[in-house]
Amino acid sequence: MTEPIFRYHPDPVATGSASRAEHDCGVCGMRRQIRYIGPVYGRQPDSLCLHCIQSGEASSTLGVSVEGDEESGMLAMFSDAVDVPDDVPMSVVDEITRHTPGFTAWQQDSWLYHCGDGAAYLGPAGYRELQAFPEALAMLREDHQRYGWTQPESEDFLRSLDREGEPTAYLFRCLHCGMGLASWDIG
Ligand SMILES: [Zn+2]
Ligand SMILES: [Zn+2]
Repeated sequence: MTEPIFRYHPDPVATGSASRAEHDCGVCGMRRQIRYIGPVYGRQPDSLCLHCIQSGEASSTLGVSVEGDEESGMLAMFSDAVDVPDDVPMSVVDEITRHTPGFTAWQQDSWLYHCGDGAAYLGPAGYRELQAFPEALAMLREDHQRYGWTQPESEDFLRSLDREGEPTAYLFRCLHCGMGLASWDIG
């Protein structure tokens, strides 16, 4: 059976947000081959398939109902919407937070945006992976400068980035201009 394709998260198995494991989805009850293992901001399902994330069924089903206001219960999300630029339409934010697999970060799993759209999440990255994306490294250096870090502090930090350990960077690519983008855990 074909698995859903996500514009903003092209390969959730490669990024570690999903794993190949036969399971019965706790939302649709179907036997599925790929299981979502990323965060759910809502009720935690026993098991969740990617189809239910894409269709929005997971977001509606796992939403937390607000007491006394059953109508407008909160919808579950798979990533948080933080620092969304003004030129990004709400429909994109909705697609990313409610219909796209999220990812687990040590601290904050904020999605990145570029060219008025969400960027595609490529996965956690260490210094080695980031070297293929000089613009992403430049972006991290700029962030550090804003925090008042010295250049040696910044370079030491970048070299300590580890795909598997802490600290980790999170790599994205703009779907329009192709620029590499990265966020990082503030250690
Ligand atoms: Zn399902
Ligand atoms: Zn761009």
